[in-house]
Amino acid sequence: MEYCKRCCYPANAKPTILFDEQGVCSGCRLHESRPAVDWDAKWKQFQEILKEYSAKARANGSTYDLIIPVSGGKDSHYQVHCIKELGYNPLLVCYNHGFNTKRGIRNLTNMLKQFNCDLLRFTTSPEAARVLSKFMLKTVGDITWHYHAGIMTFPIKSAVMYKIPLILWGEHGRSDRTGMYNQSDMLEFSKKDRQEHSMRGFEPDDILRHPNNTEVKPEHVNPFYYPSDKEIESVGVRGIYLSNYISWNDRKQTKEMIETFGFETAQSRERTYSLHAKLDDIHANGTHDFLKYLKFGYGRATDDTTIDIRHGRMTREEGIAMVAKYDHVRPSDLDIWLKFTGMTEQEFLACVDHLRDPLIWEKDANGQWKTKDSIANHIHDAGIDDVRLPRKESLEILRSAALPGSSRDDHILEDTNYIWL
Ligand SMILES: [Zn+2]
Repeated sequence: MEYCKRCCYPANAKPTILFDEQGVCSGCRLHESRPAVDWDAKWKQFQEILKEYSAKARANGSTYDLIIPVSGGKDSHYQVHCIKELGYNPLLVCYNHGFNTKRGIRNLTNMLKQFNCDLLRFTTSPEAARVLSKFMLKTVGDITWHYHAGIMTFPIKSAVMYKIPLILWGEHGRSDRTGMYNQSDMLEFSKKDRQEHSMRGFEPDDILRHPNNTEVKPEHVNPFYYPSDKEIESVGVRGIYLSNYISWNDRKQTKEMIETFGFETAQSRERTYSLHAKLDDIHANGTHDFLKYLKFGYGRATDDTTIDIRHGRMTREEGIAMVAKYDHVRPSDLDIWLKFTGMTEQEFLACVDHLRDPLIWEKDANGQWKTKDSIANHIHDAGIDDVRLPRKESLEILRSAALPGSSRDDHILEDTNYIWL
């Protein structure tokens, strides 16, 4: 396997990643292009869009200026903070996937209190979550299709229903991580991007018609149908990403949200050293991410170290040590998912067999899967020092105070943490 000579990404990182002649990945090259961007001009452009679309919403009789899709996490806090600072009244919308942590519910509530906003929340039925999660595991090795389909559909339906044309998303994560788009692309939300990436190519009808489908019924996928072109055009719905208009700095923003607005982080985690992201959902850093490791040989620690290396907070060698410590760890929340779906661990693992990348996985003489390569074998590859970034700051682990009621470690889970509402 080829690995980036600057960060920790392998050549099979998703979505598409490219390496240049120096062995540096497209995500690293995108990141280093940021200082050349005129962020003041972009911020002015952002304010003009807000002004124009707020007027459109108000002309439709809305008391809201725009929609912000939220989970209650650090990015949600930051998006709402920016918009309230500019004097606008957002309608917050949240798709409830059902796998909430106590901390996630606490942070969502905190956000409403801190910013004094209205929230519209759609909760999927437990049975729909169960059958969709099982179907997508067997078909594409993903247990969270309903999360992404809900998160990417419910805000658009809300925009149509309430006649509020502008939707403000947070970071377009794929741009940042693998450099699939660059800053000048000014990527906006589209149905195609939603279907191809977030929903693994599956619209609801594709699931109903699929030969693997034995359990999913029309009522299970009904909430995930995208509005018609006519409905979208009648309101003029447009979705933009805040990360296109500011120089996105996850840690700096999160620190402000902790210190100023009481955002709560985890206290410790099983599968990464970073404590401030993906807190609302018991599987995001666990089983969902572990599936990525089982398929492609890397996980959340690779993602987290890559961002920290690019910001000059961590050396590639320190990153590799973190990857070796965390990426392979079996998540304990897998037990909760197995209990929920009635599958055994052997059945779960067998679903992924045909999806394991042969460039990274092989079976040993006993029929056990083992990795053929890892970044730990590429610490001293030629050319690494030629592309090394200077260390700019020390790595500060963002850890809020442990708050009563929700401050349990994320990897200590019981069924009571599996909260629907
Ligand atoms: Zn890289």
